[in-house]
Amino acid sequence: MESITKELEELLMQRSLSDEQLLEAASNAADYRILPDVSVIKVGGQSMIDRGRSAVYPLLEEIVAVRKQHKLLIGTGAGSRARHLYSISAGLGLPAGLLSQLGSSVAEQNASMLGQLLAKHGIPYVDGAGIPSVPLALAEVNAVIFSGMPPYRLWMHQTSGSVIPPYRTDAGCFLVAEQFGCKQMIFVKDEDGLFTANPKTAKNPTFIPKISVNEMKEKNLHDSILEFPVLDLMQSAQHVREVQIINGLVAGNLTRALAGEHVGTIITAD
Ligand code: ADP
Ligand code: MG
Repeated sequence: MESITKELEELLMQRSLSDEQLLEAASNAADYRILPDVSVIKVGGQSMIDRGRSAVYPLLEEIVAVRKQHKLLIGTGAGSRARHLYSISAGLGLPAGLLSQLGSSVAEQNASMLGQLLAKHGIPYVDGAGIPSVPLALAEVNAVIFSGMPPYRLWMHQTSGSVIPPYRTDAGCFLVAEQFGCKQMIFVKDEDGLFTANPKTAKNPTFIPKISVNEMKEKNLHDSILEFPVLDLMQSAQHVREVQIINGLVAGNLTRALAGEHVGTIITAD
């Protein structure tokens, strides 16, 4: 390990940061999992939080109970209010960066609400998944809430001609799990998992319990339960090589998924 570090150090002093050999040496450097015992869960915006009390209260009750066994980073989605802002803002001709900033504010609103509801259990809302306060909160109460939108804000660039920010809260939560080298990533939404088509609009879609990223890409789905760019993030990930999407409207699903059970759709990078 020491020789790798020495080689890298020399290259870093001499070469440009685009140098091929430098990049390879950097990818061989030590690879430290910051929060290996922590599970990241994303609470869907549109799919869960927008449903209000009937969906949110039972899920929070489950979270409060299950955090006795599991350490949790709880990210929030944005949802309908963000979509409303996207529609106004896109109609005004504004770019992806502004839409990303607007989406962030809604994910923050949702994180604030969950933070108020979980305050009496000592579970705090931390800004930007902020590492300064996360370890203490995890040690004391086993859980923190963060806003799921990745903080690209005005720097979000537009892809494929659309002003809808490509990296939204599914991506943001996944990136937090990967960055911290977390144990697992679970998306809590309102369907049993991935289907061959959107179950809210398709006639008889088939449930897909397990699928790889490549298989999913080959299906050329028109719509997905998970933001498509997360598939690419998974393939280049070092730590989090699979995710599970579960139905958070079914009591007990989250507890079972956290225990490693297969209760929804598992998507694997390999
Ligand atoms: P979130 O609340 O986490 O942002 P979304 O509302 O963006 O979640 O995504 C979940 C929704 O995706 C589901 O409610 C479902 O209607 C829709 N969806 C679209 N395509 C599919 C599919 N192929 N399989 C399952 N759900 C799908
Ligand atoms: Mg979504």
